[in-house]
Amino acid sequence: MHTRPIWAEISRSRLISNFKKLQAVAAPHAGLLAVVKADAYGHGVPLCAPWLAEAGAGWLGVTSIEEGVAVRRLCPQARILGMCGLWPGEEDAVLEHTLVPTVWTVQHIDLLVRAARQRNAAASSIPVHLEIDTGMSRQGVALDELLAILDRIRATPALYLDGVFTHFASPEMLDSPQTDVQQQRFARALKIIATAGFHPTWIHAGNSSTLLAQDRLASLAALARQYNAKFLVRPGLALYGYALPFVQADGAPAQKMPVALEPVLRWKTRIAALRVVEAGAAVGYGATFVAAQTMRLALLPVGYADGLNRRLSNCGNVLVRGHRAAIVGRVSMDLTIVDVSKISDVAVGDEVALIGEQTAPNGTILRVTAEDQARWAGTISYEILCAISVRVPRVGVE
Ligand SMILES: *Cc1c(COP(=O)(O)O)cnc(C)c1O
Repeated sequence: MHTRPIWAEISRSRLISNFKKLQAVAAPHAGLLAVVKADAYGHGVPLCAPWLAEAGAGWLGVTSIEEGVAVRRLCPQARILGMCGLWPGEEDAVLEHTLVPTVWTVQHIDLLVRAARQRNAAASSIPVHLEIDTGMSRQGVALDELLAILDRIRATPALYLDGVFTHFASPEMLDSPQTDVQQQRFARALKIIATAGFHPTWIHAGNSSTLLAQDRLASLAALARQYNAKFLVRPGLALYGYALPFVQADGAPAQKMPVALEPVLRWKTRIAALRVVEAGAAVGYGATFVAAQTMRLALLPVGYADGLNRRLSNCGNVLVRGHRAAIVGRVSMDLTIVDVSKISDVAVGDEVALIGEQTAPNGTILRVTAEDQARWAGTISYEILCAISVRVPRVGVE
């Protein structure tokens, strides 16, 4: 039961339109693996995964086996990549729900061997993708351990190497020397893999920024072509309508955004109460805001337990009746106060956009985006979106 007026509207048409635009950017070089990890970046996997599959996403990416199982129930046909390795106890679910696991350690392979034996899995019946650590020092096998892992895969007849991939650390930096090095190491890894007699069907690399920057797509695709593999890019954030700003190798901002993406999520609430306070009135915990004159304040039934970042305290704004209303005082766990002194006709029950658009009285469109909130809170749009909590129902809209 959701009766508190706080909800997130998830736009089907915007998600599909973003997907198609990204698909068009990729098309000369690559297919897409649509990343739906972290509950589709907070947008709700139950809504987004089927919409993406319907729009033509053949591959969906998750970062836990649990998420993979949930996506399998929603999308019976999709290829689902668990981009996360696997933990003991997850190997049966991988096979039962025909997820494609990422492997890069001997332990990952041993888990699959056990599960395969139990099921009497046929030869070459279990696809795995191998992640290469090309310079992020996070997941993936290092180049000097690659041969050992390949031997282990070869020694396991039930497994076959369906894909090989890597992940870039600084894809939003154009002409990044770090990405150059990563790409060279990836090329070396692919050569080692081919020389060892493996012929993966899929080779993938890059995220939203790689796709939107475009400059590496041709060379990465050429690399895959060299081994008769299909090349995929793995966008996540861009599907939901956001992108990190590009920077030059020296850190200076760079303009480069070939596609107009639209935010898929609108985060809304309603005014719970209004009050007029006199000059000198303290607002919220710690009295971090004190009214300098008579003010009209609106109480919103949303707080950091809903995912509204506490660093928006005394910073940032929301939209009410086509006007911006500043957040005053501290964001509390369940409540936030905004200044509506200059907004005439404001009333209890008015819809408030925490993230979204409203039309101003002069006809211009006002927006608050997850990127705005990220700037105010000193973080990135990814975190703002993922932080919207389970207390906020996701509602599908056209
Ligand atoms: C999250 C993730 C992506 C998508 O990244 P975005 O920046 O959201 O496009 C791609 N690949 C891997 C391995 C990831 O973990």
